[in-house]
Order: sequence, then structure tokens, then C-alpha cells
Amino acid sequence: MPSPLAHAGWHLEHSYASLPGIFHKASHPEPVRRPALVIFNHTLAASLGLDAALLDSPEGASIFGGNSLPHGSRPLAQAYAGHQFGHFTFLGDGRAILLGEQIAPDNRRWDVQLKGSGPTRFSRRGDGRAAIGPMLREYLVSEAMHALGIPTTRSLAVTLTGESVRRDSLLPGAVLTRIAASHIRVGTFEWAAASGDLDAASALVNYTLARHFPDTPVTDSPALALLNAVAARQATLIAQWQLVGFIHGVMNTDNMALSGETIDYGPCAFIDHYDPATVFSSIDRHGRYAYHNQPPIAHWNLTRFAEALLPLIHPDESSAVSAAQSALKAFPDTCARHQYDGLKAKLGLVSDLPGDRALTDDFLSWMHSSRADFTNAFAALSNGNLPENTNEDAVFHSWHQRWLNRLSAQPLPIDDALALMRQHNPAVIPRNHKVEAALAAATSGDLTPFHQLLAIVTNPFAHGNIPVEFSQPGPANCSYQTFCGT
Ligand code: AMP
Ligand code: MG
Repeated sequence: MPSPLAHAGWHLEHSYASLPGIFHKASHPEPVRRPALVIFNHTLAASLGLDAALLDSPEGASIFGGNSLPHGSRPLAQAYAGHQFGHFTFLGDGRAILLGEQIAPDNRRWDVQLKGSGPTRFSRRGDGRAAIGPMLREYLVSEAMHALGIPTTRSLAVTLTGESVRRDSLLPGAVLTRIAASHIRVGTFEWAAASGDLDAASALVNYTLARHFPDTPVTDSPALALLNAVAARQATLIAQWQLVGFIHGVMNTDNMALSGETIDYGPCAFIDHYDPATVFSSIDRHGRYAYHNQPPIAHWNLTRFAEALLPLIHPDESSAVSAAQSALKAFPDTCARHQYDGLKAKLGLVSDLPGDRALTDDFLSWMHSSRADFTNAFAALSNGNLPENTNEDAVFHSWHQRWLNRLSAQPLPIDDALALMRQHNPAVIPRNHKVEAALAAATSGDLTPFHQLLAIVTNPFAHGNIPVEFSQPGPANCSYQTFCGT
């Protein structure tokens, strides 16, 4: 049923649907019993050219719950494959529907997707649904990432369905409305490669270049150009994750977006005390997606991407392989360099001096061995303070003196260096215990803690204005675990 809200600013196009038929399947959201908006993102709606006041309404809930289609929608499910924990699988949108691509007032194109909107032909044995907790978790963490300046999909709305979903227990069902530059994944190319349809794969390459990398110079190998462009964007993205202590938790190739946005907030979490081997996800038994493995896993995923592109890179396989290898060879160093540059900015170092590398390395080693809180240690330095529990810490004090000397050796006055640091070091990240408490309350119907936490984490550089309960890690004796959102 089309929605009566034809004038809410919808301007939907369907460029993805013009790709070959192997990539999509027409598919409708399945109506739900009693759609009700839990949260609606007015700022994001306005930037998309949508009328927030009209949509934050029962009619809007009907759209975002999947009971009526927005004006101009031609809903579809996308096909993709992926390597999950290293194993190849055919997947596809098993619980998501693309409503269309909203053309914003600035002419940018955004996928509008419902997640949890019912079964599709790709659902396998899943119910096509989602529970409120994981959808609010995605809303919160994606909006926090955006506020931290990290490329990410956004969240427009979470809508209760008025139905229960069966997980370990019965939980309130909900639908997330996700906004993304696109939902093209490494796995979309793996799907094309597995189908053996070279024309389809080639159309996808050209489409992705045009949509996400329009400034890429035309060469005789668009596939190689795409590989280079995607690798460059992933190198910056993963470095940004590392620099705020973000662990994605499930970096399967179907969860790596070619746009360079962070996508799929399942078992993700931020580290508290600095330990590079940190893993939160209960399903990640071998630490494949541990904090320190994120750069090498991104490289591994890009290698799967390159494999899917090989026949398009060069008709001769060994030429294709060597071209792909040289395209990806620099990835580890590039990612490490972005991380190093970011670390220098976090420590206020604006020039290059001998000893800088050792200074940054030694700070990380000190944080590791003293189990310092990653976010708070940088935030303390940025505010001219000492990190907690360092009064008697000789290793820290000797490092701190070196750092102060180093700051004096650059032309920038120290106060300006600290001001710069406050722009690079958040005062707050979504603390695991706070996220869990907010989601538990929301699941039993109290949204107050969720709104409080959202307001805090979407203003993460408000140094000096963070209530202490939001900036402290949870009790040290409870080791935090996250569970996949399905
Ligand atoms: P994710 O772990 O969210 O990245 O999902 C991996 C794959 O499982 C994707 O193909 C999803 O569409 C699918 N999936 C996850 N949960 C469900 C569900 N409840 N019903 C159907 N498919 C699902
Ligand atoms: Mg996924």
C-alpha cells in the first residue's frame, strides 16, 4: 500500500535496480501488527530533504515499519555472498529491503533501507526480523561514530512492530531505517564472481566507480582502478577505528562496504583499557576480529575482493594476479601510516622530529602494561591533566616529561597543541556498560537512559561537560561480551 505522505520530501530513484538481475530481487516489506516509532532522527531527515515533522507521526511509523511504501518506492532485496569467519557463503538481504535511493537537496544519493522488515528469498532459515535491542544499538553506535567523524551508515528511525521475535527469549520486534552511501559490499562482487557472469561483474565495477569514486581517472582497467580506490578508503577507515578503539567484531567480507563506510553494527564495542588483543564478540572464539587484527583482516578482505575482480583486471590470470598483488602490497603500510599520523595528532605533535616514533610507541606500551583507559588517557593529556592512577608511576612520568619537552620543541604554543588534541581525542565514547543498561531499559519500555546516552555520545568532543558516569569504564572484574544481533 502506498503511503498518503506523498509530500514528505521523498525523491526516490532506483539506479541499483538497473544493474543486471542477478544483483537484486523485487521484494516487499511484510506488514507488521502495530508500527510505532521509537526514535526518529530529525537532523538526518532534514539533511535528506525529508519533512521530519510530517514523518515523525503514525503515517511515518507505517512507512518505517514496512506497512506502507514511501512515494516512489520500488522495494528490492540485494543479492551478495561473503566470507564469514573465513568461509565462503551465499547470503543476500535476508531481513532487509532497499526502498530506493533518496536524492538529497545537495544531489547526493542515499540508500534508504529497512532492516528487520520480514523474510525475503535470501532469508535461508532466518525469520527476517530483528529485536529492539540490536536495532537501537546500531542506531546509537552508528550515530556516535558519525559524531566522531568516522564514515558510517546512519540511522533514520527505529520502529517497534508490535510483534515479538523469538531469540533466546521472546523480545519486542523492531525495524531499523538505515541510510547508506550504498550497500555494495565486497560480498556483492563475490556474488558476481561466483555466478561467473563477467558482464554483470563489469557492470557492477562501472556502477560502483561512478557512484563512489566519480573522480577516478578513466584507465584501461576500471577493475584495477576500483581495487586501488577501495583499498585507499579502507586504509583510512580502519585507521580511524583503531584511533578511537573501535572493534567492529564481525568483519566478514559481506560487512565491508565499498563506499568506505562502517556498516553492520552487530557485536561491536569500544575498548576500555588498552589491550590490542581485545575481543568482545562471543562468536569470535579465535580472536579473528580482535582489535589488533583489524588492519590485517581488512587486507585479507581486500584480497578476496581482488580475487573476485581478477578476470576483469586482465584476461591472462598471472598478469591479473600480479597487478592485483601490487595494488594491495602497500595496504598494511598505508594503514599503519594513517594510524601513526592520527596518533601524532592525538598527542599534539604537528611536526616531524627524530624520536617521534619511539614517543608514540612508548605511550602505547605504557597504556598496555598499565591497563590505562584508552579514551580517558588521551582525553586527560588533551586537557593538561595526568591520566588516572599515575601519581606513583615512574614509567609514565618519564614518558610525560619527554612528551612535554617534545611539545616545547615545535613552533606551536602548548595551549594550541592541547586545543588541537581536544579535537582529535573524544571526551567520551559509548561505554559498554552504559550501552547495555540503556538497551535493557529500552527493551522493557523505558527510553530515558537511551536518549540520555545518545545525547552524550553524539557530542563526543564536549571536553569538560561529560558527567563522570558516562566517561568511566564498567567494573573491571566484569569481562564484557557482545552477542550477534540476529
Ligand atoms: P549480519 O550478521 O547481520 O551481517 O547478517 C549476515 C547474513 O545473515 C545476512 O545475509 C543477513 O541478511 C542474514 N540474517 C541475519 N539475521 C537474519 C534473520 N533474522 N533472518 C534472515 N536473515 C538474517
Ligand atoms: Mg551484514
